[in-house]
Amino acid sequence: MLPFTIEKVTSVEAAIAAASSGRRVIAGGTTLIDLMREEVEQPEHLVDINALPLSEICIDRSDLVIGALARMADVAAHPDVQRLQPLIAESLIEGASPQLRNMASIGGNLLQRVRCPYFRMLDASCNKRNSGSGCAAIDGLNVGHAILGTSDHCVATHPSDVAVALVALDATMRVKGPEGERTFRVEELFRLPGDTPHLEHALLPGELIIEVRVPGGPNSRRARYLKVRDRASYEFALVSAAAALDVADGVIREARLAVGGVGTRPWRLRAVEAALIGKAPGRQVFQAAARLSLEGARPLSGNHYKLELLPRTIVRAFEMTGGIA
Ligand SMILES: Cc1cc2nc3c(=O)[nH]c(=O)nc-3n(C[C@H](O)[C@H](O)[C@H](O)COP(=O)(O)OP(=O)(O)OC[C@H]3O[C@@H](n4cnc5c(N)ncnc54)[C@H](O)[C@@H]3O)c2cc1C
Ligand code: SF4
Repeated sequence: MLPFTIEKVTSVEAAIAAASSGRRVIAGGTTLIDLMREEVEQPEHLVDINALPLSEICIDRSDLVIGALARMADVAAHPDVQRLQPLIAESLIEGASPQLRNMASIGGNLLQRVRCPYFRMLDASCNKRNSGSGCAAIDGLNVGHAILGTSDHCVATHPSDVAVALVALDATMRVKGPEGERTFRVEELFRLPGDTPHLEHALLPGELIIEVRVPGGPNSRRARYLKVRDRASYEFALVSAAAALDVADGVIREARLAVGGVGTRPWRLRAVEAALIGKAPGRQVFQAAARLSLEGARPLSGNHYKLELLPRTIVRAFEMTGGIA
């Protein structure tokens, strides 16, 4: 690990000023320090934002509002989150380990880096770590890699679980930077790799995530997160699905679906959602719609199994919502 300085700030304005002058923000440190130890990340100056008043979890009208510094464990255990947004709680509990969830913040979770093994091997080609060096995963070990949203320059999946749930629920985020505040959909935070995989998110220099807002509604409570992985805990998703159904009089009025472990960003599947509207919920209906999830899929040598696992996971997740009349 290379030497670095760390400065604590107590106001959002001071944090933005420090971040604008090139200092790197640190919250729980569970991603950043890990990568600094391996010298994948080499910031010389850190700014510790943990003293900022951004840990609140509250209900504003029917929306759930989560401060960027709220810890994963605190959000998952919050009674209002469990009651009103069980999909958020479930996706958080399915991630990492209890110790990590106690440290890790929501803002840091959304900005965590990829888990592609070559990203961490300093002597391997990796366009994300070293732009223009190539992508060792495309012709290498790519069992866990993406089939959707890939490019010839990067095929790594986005690893966050809660991001999948937030994208399914149309959550928005408020960010603040030297030019002021702006709000946009969480889905818009994540960039496709294209030919610039080293550019991962839409934050401008010096911008801080302030909070995430999850709209309430009929979808929120009939929603489930299903994560398929190699081990029952402490493992990233091979495929995951955040599914929600609003069913009235035996017919699906609205459906929400985003998937993880298959896309270079949390992947919303609007074609699958649209195919469910007006139908009576049931396995055959879910299966027919789930086939549309594979539109544009580009499997690699090691991950053809995801073509089978993705639609199956979607069907199971919709069945778990209890939407079957
Ligand atoms: C062994 C292991 C297993 C894991 N398993 C899972 C899993 O199954 N599912 C899952 O979803 N995650 C998993 N994680 C990832 C974990 O959830 C993240 O490491 C954690 O959420 C990051 O939060 P943090 O506060 O520690 O971020 P930090 O490490 O402090 O920061 C991460 C990044 O976010 C930036 N940042 C932090 N806060 C802000 C802010 N408010 N505004 C702007 N930038 C900010 C930092 O500059 C840094 O670039 C795992 C991690 C480990 C180490
Ligand atoms: S998939 Fe992306 S992160 Fe992995 S080696 Fe290729 S460029 Fe790097």
